[in-house]
Formats: sequence, C-alpha cells, structure tokens
Amino acid sequence: MGILRPLEYQDVDGLVTDIPGICLVTFYADCVPLFFVDPVKKAIGLSHSGWRGTVAKIGKATVELMERQFGCDPADILAAVGPSICQECYEVSEDVIEKFQEKFKECHWKDLYYQKENGKYQLNLWKANEIVLREAGIRKKHLAVTNVCTHCNSDILYSHRTAGNDRGSLAAFLALK
Ligand SMILES: [Zn+2]
Repeated sequence: MGILRPLEYQDVDGLVTDIPGICLVTFYADCVPLFFVDPVKKAIGLSHSGWRGTVAKIGKATVELMERQFGCDPADILAAVGPSICQECYEVSEDVIEKFQEKFKECHWKDLYYQKENGKYQLNLWKANEIVLREAGIRKKHLAVTNVCTHCNSDILYSHRTAGNDRGSLAAFLALK
C-alpha cells in the first residue's frame, strides 16, 4: 500500500504485522525509528517516535498492540532505537521539557535533559525511548541503541535540523521472511 495501490490509512506513526513478505516502512529525518521483532510469535513492528510520540510513549503502545494482536510476550521482543538526533544536537524549549516531566518519573529527569545558560534544554530522545521500552517490558539485553546521530552525520543521513524542509527522508524497513 502506498506504492502499488493506495494507502488505506492516513497519519499513522506505527505499523505492525505478522504476515511474511509485507515490508513495513516508516520515514524519518531526526525523529527516532523504533524496530520490534518477536522471533517467538513471528511478528514485527515499526514506529516513529518524535518528541511528541516519545512523550506519548508510542514504543510502549506498539509493544502493547503486538501483545493484543499477536499474543507477543514483551520479554521475547527484540527492539532497537535507530539513527536519529542525539542529545547534544537536540535543543528544545521549556514547554517540551514540561511535557516530559508530566510523563516521566522524576528519577529519570537527570538522564533525559539538562538546562543551558540560554534557558533552553538539551533533550535525550534515545534515553527517553529506552526508558519507555524498558517500562513496556523489553529486556535490557534485547534492546539495542544504534548511537548514530542524523544531525552529526548529515553528510550521509537526512537531518531536518540541518536542512529544514529542503531535505529527503530516511526510511526504516522491516519484513518477516
Ligand atoms: Zn548529534
């Protein structure tokens, strides 16, 4: 859908399937791609976690959907945080930080952001998604963070913060054989 025939959905930030041969595709340019593979129930998921999606814990929503739809056990799911903007490159304003304070426990705040002299904050979306996925029941040993920043590597990766709207998009692909 979206290539050979029209899309049947609009404005989704996550996709799951247990059908072999269907390739899930989502697009990014600094936002965080989340990959999910359940090798036991043979199901997969992809979700797009920008700051709004991260605050809304879309990673957890994806795991819960895989549990409901396919009977997955989060303890079996392998997850990865893909290339996206790193903390040093991701300056946000206080209103964004307030949203994170509402949704994340205070014990995590020091890992999620720090304030700078200009009153702005540097936000760590990788850490935030790691916390969300651990809350969802993903095991630490099943969670990979690629540690590749799109903005630091904008010579080879598309970055919205580097190029604005005059840019391409990175795509995440995931399919079952
Ligand atoms: Zn960076």
